Formats: sequence, C-alpha cells, structure tokens
Amino acid sequence: MGGTFDPIHIGHLVAADEARCQFRLDKVVFVPSARPPHKTGVRHSPAADRLQMVRIAIRGNPFLDVSDVELKREGLSYTIDTLRHLREVHGASVELFFITGADAILEILTWKDPDELLAESAFIAATRPGFPLASLRDALPEKTSKGADALDNVYSMEIPALAISSTDIRERAASGRPYRYMVPEGVWEYIEASGLYLKGEPRGDG
Ligand code: ATP
Ligand code: MG
Repeated sequence: MGGTFDPIHIGHLVAADEARCQFRLDKVVFVPSARPPHKTGVRHSPAADRLQMVRIAIRGNPFLDVSDVELKREGLSYTIDTLRHLREVHGASVELFFITGADAILEILTWKDPDELLAESAFIAATRPGFPLASLRDALPEKTSKGADALDNVYSMEIPALAISSTDIRERAASGRPYRYMVPEGVWEYIEASGLYLKGEPRGDG
C-alpha cells in the first residue's frame, strides 16, 4: 500500500486490514513515498517522521509491515519501480496486490504505463460503499497490449465510509481542532510531542 502517510491514519489501517481479510493476503506492506509524481510541488513532512509514524501505527500487528524502499530511492517514486523491487525480493511466484484508494488508482493506472503495472501486480481499489469503478473503465483502454481485459487484474473493495484524510488531520492539528481518534494513539502522541503540523514550522520535502 503506497502513499505519503503524512500522517498515517485510521482510514489507511482499515483499508489494509480489510484487504488482508478479503484477499487472504499474508501481509500488507506500507510503502511511504518520497516524491510521488502526482504530488510534485506539494510539501510534505520529513521522510523520517512519516516512516516513524507508520512504524508506531503497525506496532503489535504481525500482518502489517513497512518498507523504506521508496524513501531510499532517488528521483520520483514510481509505483512500477517499487513493484519490480518487491518481486525481486520476494520471488517470481509471489502474488502482488497494490492497495490504493479509488482516487489514487485513477492517478496510478492512467498516468504511466498501465500495461506494465497491470502485468506486474493486481490492484485493489478501496472504495466507499456504492462507488463504482466506472471512471476507471472510461480512463483505461479496454485491452492491455497483451490482449487481456485491462480491468481483469483490478478489484474493488468496499470499506466502511471513512471521511478521514491526512490533509484534514494536518489542518486540524495546525489549528487546534480535534483529530486524536482519527489516528492510532501513538501517532497522536508523536504529532503532539513533535509539533509536526504546527503552523509556521518548516516542513521538509523529503
Ligand atoms: P492526503 O490528504 O495528504 O492526500 P491521504 O489521506 O489521501 O493524504 P495518502 O497518503 O495520500 O493519504 O494515501 C495513501 C493511500 O490510502 C491512497 O491510496 C489513498 O487513496 C488511500 N486512502 C487515504 N485515505 C483513505 C481512507 N479514508 N480510506 C481508504 N483509503 C484511503
Ligand atoms: Mg491522498
């Protein structure tokens, strides 16, 4: 599951847990991105803070893991590079599923080499109840270059409606509005202790 995780929140964790159950995954690996191509120009917190908050959030759950592969790689964080890396590490026989929100899958699959991405991994789009993947069908070619149905490897997964986003949490933290129960307890403590989202604090870009 890729994302900037600035910060990781309950929505991410609910989606990860639901995907693990519905698709019988052995493990869900959070992969915080360094420089997502679709978020260039967007400032985000230092990589070390975002990584640490993920570590705190997954503590005690043996089915959740974190990888710093994108944070260590130079240049823009392309999903295809990460999928290839995971395949190299885990071997050709492993089945990969890339978990995203329905919003992000549109960006990932329609912006760069959908063919290659769909060949390398299945995709799970977390949607709110009733959200159809029709917009994805409109945006992708019907067939991949290998002749397969482009959406064969794309699954949608309904999760309870969670109107939680990192953007909203950052704004709440900056303006003193409540966000405590939108993140795991330890992540709330980390944000409070570090003042990560307080207005006027310099925000890192890596
Ligand atoms: P931001 O507001 O900074 O964009 P975000 O909350 O969207 O943050 P990201 O780090 O951008 O979080 O998202 C990582 C992945 O999690 C994306 O695929 C995104 O679609 C998905 N996601 C984000 N929020 C939710 C949520 N509440 N429920 C399910 N999936 C989510
Ligand atoms: Mg987002």
